[in-house]
Amino acid sequence: MKHKTLVVATRNIGKVREFSLILKGVYEEILSLANFDNIPKIEETGLSFRENALIKAETVSGFLGVDVIGDDSGLVVDALGGAPGIYSARYAGERASDDENNEKLLSELKAEKNRAAKFICCIALVLADGTREFFEGECKGTILREKRGSGGFGYDPVFYVSQYAKTMAEIDPSIKNRISHRAIASGKLKSYFSTLK
Ligand code: IMP
Repeated sequence: MKHKTLVVATRNIGKVREFSLILKGVYEEILSLANFDNIPKIEETGLSFRENALIKAETVSGFLGVDVIGDDSGLVVDALGGAPGIYSARYAGERASDDENNEKLLSELKAEKNRAAKFICCIALVLADGTREFFEGECKGTILREKRGSGGFGYDPVFYVSQYAKTMAEIDPSIKNRISHRAIASGKLKSYFSTLK
């Protein structure tokens, strides 16, 4: 075991579980924001996935003085100039549901022939000594004209992956966990630790 404590700057239990699996054997303990009750509010004011991931990691690392990872992800659609991008979670409004976001996306693309899109994930790692590293992953696809499938979350039902001739919501989760933007960024994070002396 090389390192003591890593905090994942999220309250999303799924993400913590995912990162804990990936970094098993690297850190003695992996905690999340749920383990602390006095963390300052994290203001996601960045203008890119990278900036937002860094804001999350730095806010928490600056406060706790330990190694922290923050991540940010979303959907980037070519014909919409990169939207919804960093606003993916709230594309159709502050508390929009996945369905509302998908409806808005389909309506914005109604007359559009270019359906190219990608999911992007950026992970920022801030070490207690101030070192910063970034790991990015992307997953390319196209946006269908209607939803298909019931798995996954977010934009998965409209995101078609030609290699599997399925939407992300139809693809087996074990495959999604291998090809997704998060999986690719996480793989780079894992490689980084495996090359550290
Ligand atoms: P977060 O930064 O990981 O919380 O993601 C922000 C938003 O991007 C989510 O609320 C979803 O709308 C969208 N998103 C991120 N990853 C995925 C994915 O794997 N599938 C579908 N939508 C995603």
